Amino acid sequence: MTCLECSKNLDYLEHKNSMDQLGLELCKQHRTRMAKLIENNNTPIEAMQLYYGLKAVGVNPMLEWWDGNKSIDIAISRVKLNIEIDVEYHMLTHEQAMNDLEKTMHSFKNGFTTIRIPHVLIKHYLKETVNNILGIMKGLKANIKVI
Ligand SMILES: [Zn+2]
Repeated sequence: MTCLECSKNLDYLEHKNSMDQLGLELCKQHRTRMAKLIENNNTPIEAMQLYYGLKAVGVNPMLEWWDGNKSIDIAISRVKLNIEIDVEYHMLTHEQAMNDLEKTMHSFKNGFTTIRIPHVLIKHYLKETVNNILGIMKGLKANIKVI
């Protein structure tokens, strides 16, 4: 059991606290840092799980990336891909939906593609979700070459 961020060895209690709080293996220092990020940005826990899932397969994602306009849950700048995690689908009002659409429009204007992923998908199918994102990255890379 080692910290995902710094590879420090975790003792039983450290590991348990981190799994209980974030569902991720992090040392106290990195767990505190992530908890602060969650508090400041309202970051879904699933965004962090996806972030580390992508890192594990060699992707270089950025968490809570500020694009000059808003904070993106996860951005993969190499292929200009923004990933937003959707929580509570059933609570979506038409104002929120329009807001999302406008955000997507602004991203497109900057050359970024935005995909929205329901948090439950990450919670239950992290591996498949990561695989699909890898496929999307491959497609985006091919498109960038064509242009
Ligand atoms: Zn650490």
